[in-house]
Amino acid sequence: MAAAVAAGPGKELAELLGDGAVLDRPDPVYTRDATETRGIEGHADAVVFPASAEEVGRVLAWCYEHDVPLTPRGGGTGFAGGAVPVEGGVVLVLDRLDRVRAFEPLLWRAHVEAGVVTRRVQQLARENGLVFPPDPGAPEQSQIGGNIATNAGGPHAFKYGVTGRWVTGLEAVVPPGEVISIGGPFRKDVAGYDLKSLLIGSEGTLGIVTAAWLRFIPAPEAAYPVVGLYTGTADGCGAIERVVGSGLVPAAIEYLDGFALDAAGAAFPGALPTDATFMVIAEADGSLEEAARLRDELVEVLGEGSVAVVTPEPTELWRWREGVAFAVISLRGGKSGEDIVVPLDRLAEAIEETVEIGRRHDLQACSWGHAGDGNVHSNFVVDPHDEAELDRARAGAEELFAMAIRLGGSISGEHGIGWTKRGWLDRQWGTRAVELHRELKHVFDPKGLLNPGKKI
Ligand SMILES: Cc1cc2nc3c(=O)[nH]c(=O)nc-3n(C[C@H](O)[C@H](O)[C@H](O)COP(=O)(O)OP(=O)(O)OC[C@H]3O[C@@H](n4cnc5c(N)ncnc54)[C@H](O)[C@@H]3O)c2cc1C
Repeated sequence: MAAAVAAGPGKELAELLGDGAVLDRPDPVYTRDATETRGIEGHADAVVFPASAEEVGRVLAWCYEHDVPLTPRGGGTGFAGGAVPVEGGVVLVLDRLDRVRAFEPLLWRAHVEAGVVTRRVQQLARENGLVFPPDPGAPEQSQIGGNIATNAGGPHAFKYGVTGRWVTGLEAVVPPGEVISIGGPFRKDVAGYDLKSLLIGSEGTLGIVTAAWLRFIPAPEAAYPVVGLYTGTADGCGAIERVVGSGLVPAAIEYLDGFALDAAGAAFPGALPTDATFMVIAEADGSLEEAARLRDELVEVLGEGSVAVVTPEPTELWRWREGVAFAVISLRGGKSGEDIVVPLDRLAEAIEETVEIGRRHDLQACSWGHAGDGNVHSNFVVDPHDEAELDRARAGAEELFAMAIRLGGSISGEHGIGWTKRGWLDRQWGTRAVELHRELKHVFDPKGLLNPGKKI
């Protein structure tokens, strides 16, 4: 936790929040996020640790009065540099807003503060026979506020949708420092403009989320993953299209290409055929009967054209799947990863072109991701200390974004624009749509102090 401060903006902020809630010699841990492994770092004049929405409001009001930029920070697991303070100023850490204000399992809902860690919400639901479906891959560290600010997805978004679908109410602090409340513990609300959806996914550029009402559903009785292995991208993507075309609705449809499979395969919970160069993971869930029937159908459909189909135990499989990014990072110490989206019928092209773009830039490239959503995590393996290689990875990323747009998709399916994709919204969207973004930003944040340099 923070130490008391003596000078600089930290002194005044400490008067607002009390001793121990401000750092004026920021620890680098608060000026980086998961883009650290691609060499991205910011700088800050102070780091603050408010403990309530009202204290968040005081900090924002102080920043507004003194024209100081403010960057909200959740768990720092973002892959777009969104929590990196690129223009200095104050980093506002939400760790201390970590209370579960209400949990009502019989009504399938909870009211939690923004700093509650994602895994805690998932566990709370599970222990009570419920499920909170969003499952982004760093749940031990990411926070509900960060998930909402990025509208995070994950493997099970194929059937259950992204974080925003599970939020019924928001408490947020907006410039110049007021606490607002939108929605609540009710499931339908068309009374006003949809400000809740506007804040969700706004990456801390319109307001600071301080609490949310979340909704849950009863946990499915059973979940059975089915893993198909193929000798090429065409066969693997063909199998994915066959699953969807058959009208089957798995909870998740994931893939790994050959390079990612090589990097992570040794730890896979089960035997893998040596000639497999593409993996498809689907999961059947529902009542015992429904899940078993769907599992059998998936085994049949994924089996066509495969070299093997295996059915690992779900907890082990998903723990392994969460480790894929780390297995790739461990190869050379870093990776530059993007999260482009393409229409499902262009998935094979995006996967193959990712490798081709890497080759053009003399980079090892691979991808994995949420196949059913067409969400491709295209990665270049890098040494984070090799500046020339990082430059080539940046140039490669530009080509990935251009490819996503050319194939009729989007530059981001779940990580957001942040800092790494700055400027690209203008190329994906038309002039007037981007102008509307700027006008909205101005309405919320007329001084442009909330997470400057991000999103637009
Ligand atoms: C191994 C690994 C796997 C991942 N897998 C997935 C995945 O499957 N799907 C996915 O979507 N993401 C994934 N991510 C990315 C990341 O976990 C998500 O983007 C997550 O939602 C970020 O949450 P955070 O609390 O760490 O936010 P941070 O990184 O701290 O911040 C992210 C953005 O949100 C803003 N922000 C944070 N908290 C608030 C708040 N309370 N109010 C307003 N703005 C705020 C920040 O300013 C920043 O712009 C993965 C990351 C890692 C490291």
